[in-house]
Amino acid sequence: MEIQYVIINFIILLTILVLVGRKTVKRIFGDRLEKINKELDEAEEIEKMEMPVFEPYTEEIVDDIVNEDIVKAQEAVEEKINSIKAFGEREHSEIHRTMIENARKELFSVMKENVINLFSYEKYAKEIKSLDGQVLDAILSQITLTSGDMAYLKHHDVLYVTLTSAFPLEKELVDKVDEATKKLLETVDGKTSLWVLEDSSLIGGLKFRIGDTVYDGTVSEELYQFEKSMNHAPIMDDDTVGRLIQEFTEKAEEFRPQIHKYQLGRVMTVSDGICWMDGLADIMYGEVVEFECGERGMVLDIQQNRIGCVIFGEFEHIEAGSRVRRVGRIASVPVGECLLGRVVDALGNPIDAMGYLPYKERRPIEFKAPAILDRAPVNSPMHTGIKAIDALVPIGKGQRELIIGDRQTGKTAIAVDTIINQKGKDTICIYVAIGQKETLVAEIREKLESKGAMEYTIIIAVPASSSAALQYIAPFSGSAMAEHFMYEGKDVLIVFDDLSKHAVAYRELSLLLHRPSGREAYPGDIFYLHSRLLERAAHLSDDLGGGSITALPIIETLAGDISAYIPTNVISITDGQIFLDSELFNEGQRPAINVGLSVSRVGGAAQNPVMKKVSSSLRTRLAQYRELAEFMQFGSDVDDATKATLDSGKRLTEALKQGRFVPIPDELQTILIFAVSEGYAKSVDVQDMERFEKELYNFFKTEKESLAVKVKNARKLDETLRDELDRALAEFLARF
Ligand code: ATP
Ligand code: MG
Repeated sequence: MEIQYVIINFIILLTILVLVGRKTVKRIFGDRLEKINKELDEAEEIEKMEMPVFEPYTEEIVDDIVNEDIVKAQEAVEEKINSIKAFGEREHSEIHRTMIENARKELFSVMKENVINLFSYEKYAKEIKSLDGQVLDAILSQITLTSGDMAYLKHHDVLYVTLTSAFPLEKELVDKVDEATKKLLETVDGKTSLWVLEDSSLIGGLKFRIGDTVYDGTVSEELYQFEKSMNHAPIMDDDTVGRLIQEFTEKAEEFRPQIHKYQLGRVMTVSDGICWMDGLADIMYGEVVEFECGERGMVLDIQQNRIGCVIFGEFEHIEAGSRVRRVGRIASVPVGECLLGRVVDALGNPIDAMGYLPYKERRPIEFKAPAILDRAPVNSPMHTGIKAIDALVPIGKGQRELIIGDRQTGKTAIAVDTIINQKGKDTICIYVAIGQKETLVAEIREKLESKGAMEYTIIIAVPASSSAALQYIAPFSGSAMAEHFMYEGKDVLIVFDDLSKHAVAYRELSLLLHRPSGREAYPGDIFYLHSRLLERAAHLSDDLGGGSITALPIIETLAGDISAYIPTNVISITDGQIFLDSELFNEGQRPAINVGLSVSRVGGAAQNPVMKKVSSSLRTRLAQYRELAEFMQFGSDVDDATKATLDSGKRLTEALKQGRFVPIPDELQTILIFAVSEGYAKSVDVQDMERFEKELYNFFKTEKESLAVKVKNARKLDETLRDELDRALAEFLARF
């Protein structure tokens, strides 16, 4: 009975299970089936649909499309330019610069797209591919083994060769390459290993690499070269934009193989603005290299298995393993008249918001100094307009005179006054600010502008915030600009403000390059560095045009210590020094020139003869006075002779005081010093000396002009001139 129930229950359960299960299974499979059927139907429908036929573009259609692209590009660029113009010509320099930079980049990317589009049209793609054979022939006719390859083969038995093309290459061409490279290496008993690659980013053409040398005949290289040439093209007027666009499209349409040869290397490590690389087998010291991100650097260290370079800009985007390319030239800067009135960085890029620099020429920053036979003696004066200097430490054209002193003793002031005094004297001035505050440079520029001195001045500004590499090359860049003018027969005055900071920058670089450090942790070649720099100042012989570079390097001392390493170095390199004393400065004797420690070894030959005569005894008299004055602090009883020395000394010191920005013509300086040293100021109160000086100048400028001119041009101080001066001064005193 129980068993019967059990069986019935089981059967019921089974029936339910079968019924429900069948339904579920049916539902699952039904869904699938429906889906499959639907897809099959769709497929059938698609198959039934008529497929569109792509007709090849006719030439007119292509031209239309290309032209449309060009019009679009032109519009985009014009819009950009208008927005720059609307921004104003001389707005805030940094923003202005970035805008121009961006516009240029944008212009280029529009153009590049345009060209890439152009090559994707079948007509052009076919045409460019048909040139592969020609490109390859051109490459193979050029390949040679460099000395770097030979050196590599000495230590390794294979030289790697890569052939990269934009389109798949025919076997025939590959075989040709194989044969040619084998033949090339036959003579040196080496083997090659050929790799054939395809890279559509080349757009068209071929690239062949053997060892570190690349022979590049690709469209992308052509574009790169064009981009580079565009970096210096002005973008401020529509005319040039139109021209650029035209040039660009023409170039793309008429693309013919042109082989660019360069060497490649690889970044090993980057840190603190220093990059170590390998490859670049034939690189030279001082050569420029370019990283993939566009940043540049300069080679400063060549070792057997690695090359060290300093990076000019930001090094954050340079990655280990990325490519480095040799630019093929020593670091150089733009030179010429177009730089006058401009503020540029260490590489000669304008940073003054006055736009594009229309230079025609560049010059390497390192250059051989003129040989002894190419030089003429220093024989014409370089007036500073500062009485104490022109009288006591006269500077001649082609001389190197050091300005040395503690901080805040008026070193920069002397240099700036000297620049201002060159107005109308046909001398070009270059002020190299190394590691100075940006505000200070801006102030100097403003001052020079207001004095009308910017029109013959170039400022190279490398603020403290810029990299050590840029601070290091700044004075060399300045010298290159100066040399250009000197070899044209012009006179140049160059100020290095200051070389102490330059030495610190070089020390930083050297330590980062793991060079052994010497005295005060400076590298041993710091002396050579500065002598190499200052040796380039010269007065050229008449055969070479008679131009000159007068250099005023500035050195900052610590607590007046001129026997520290850098000061002694530069003192021994230069032809004299102007020593500024902080004690004198604080006493109010400004410019604070310490007469005892200042000297000019060659300038005397160039000094105005009258001034020379008048100031000959000045140095001893001032020294006597200083000594006596110090001594007399302790006593009050003075005999007449001592009193006379003290009186005249006091007036002389007073007469040598001078404010900033008031250069005094040479003849007036001479007359003043003549008057004071001949005792014409004896009866004048010390407090009245300033008025005495001013009125004396006025008197000679208005009433005795011809006499002043006579003093200026006189060959010597003869009796008649002395008489005339005596008479004029007596007349002046009677009125004073
Ligand atoms: P630093 O070490 O900071 O470079 P420096 O030695 O170049 O200083 P300056 O900047 O030329 O010194 O001058 C320091 C200060 O002295 C400035 O405020 C300047 O105006 C003042 N000064 C310099 N020369 C004179 C002068 N002849 N008459 C009056 N003031 C002067
Ligand atoms: Mg200074």
